Amino acid sequence: MKRKDRRKKKSMTKILLLLLVLIIGVIVYVFLNQKQADKKAENSVANIASKEKNTVSKNSSEKKVLLSKDENHLPILMYHYVTSNSDELPQDSNNIDIVAFENQLKALKENNYKTVSAAEAQQLLTKKEKLDNKLVWLTFDDGSVTMYTRIFPLLKKYNMHATSFIITDYVNNGQGGILTWDQIKEMKESGLVDFGSHTAQHFDLGLQTAEQQQEELLKSKSDLDKELNQNTDMICYPAGGYNQDTLNIADKLGYKFGVLDPGRNGAIESDAKESDGLLMLPRYRMLDTTTPNDLLKMLEQSTVYNTENTIEK
Ligand SMILES: [Zn+2]
Repeated sequence: MKRKDRRKKKSMTKILLLLLVLIIGVIVYVFLNQKQADKKAENSVANIASKEKNTVSKNSSEKKVLLSKDENHLPILMYHYVTSNSDELPQDSNNIDIVAFENQLKALKENNYKTVSAAEAQQLLTKKEKLDNKLVWLTFDDGSVTMYTRIFPLLKKYNMHATSFIITDYVNNGQGGILTWDQIKEMKESGLVDFGSHTAQHFDLGLQTAEQQQEELLKSKSDLDKELNQNTDMICYPAGGYNQDTLNIADKLGYKFGVLDPGRNGAIESDAKESDGLLMLPRYRMLDTTTPNDLLKMLEQSTVYNTENTIEK
């Protein structure tokens, strides 16, 4: 009887112990699970919060559009090439020394000017909306190789946009000192440089017959369209030469925006606006001697005008 009892007691203890282990196991399991669930909840809240933060900041930068009472003004700067002393290129009035050029870009950056892409410039000139009141459009004529060797590295360094006007036959003929299609394509793919026409052979259009002009504008556009897979709609008249035929032909061929040379054909230096005629947009000539202060003074009136032209919300 005693032995039987003892055996019974022993097995009871075993069962109790087993139950205890089981209970502890369940408690630990539940506790750990809860902790993990809490962590998950925390993470997903953090996720949503950070996602929301992203959308908010994204939206605010995307949607930050200012409304204008009247047409916008846009200063367009005209450059040609940028060299350093070591470059064997003509050091004429179209050239800007690389140090002077970088100082101009620095002045723009430090004073919060936004360099617009061609698409942004076009929007700005045709709509009563704008991204900012401190805007400037950098344009470079002739497609000099320094666009790739000197200017493009600085555009990347300061994250700035520019537009380059190409003389397409010069590129096709592999002319010295001129960009190649590969360099043009690489810059276009970067998103920092867009390209317009500077005609096929850089003749003064104002001195040509309508037939010759048609040929120059058409050939240049079709080469750019084909090589860059784009619909070229910007024209820069070589040496600022143009006449009424030029404007009619450009319009007929699908050019929507044309830029002038200050000092040619009565063109003066001023901010561009839609009422100038989109095919006759004035520009400012940039010189080697243009100091950062000169540049900021040049841009001041557009900033003042655009600020006053903003509809307060
Ligand atoms: Zn030119």
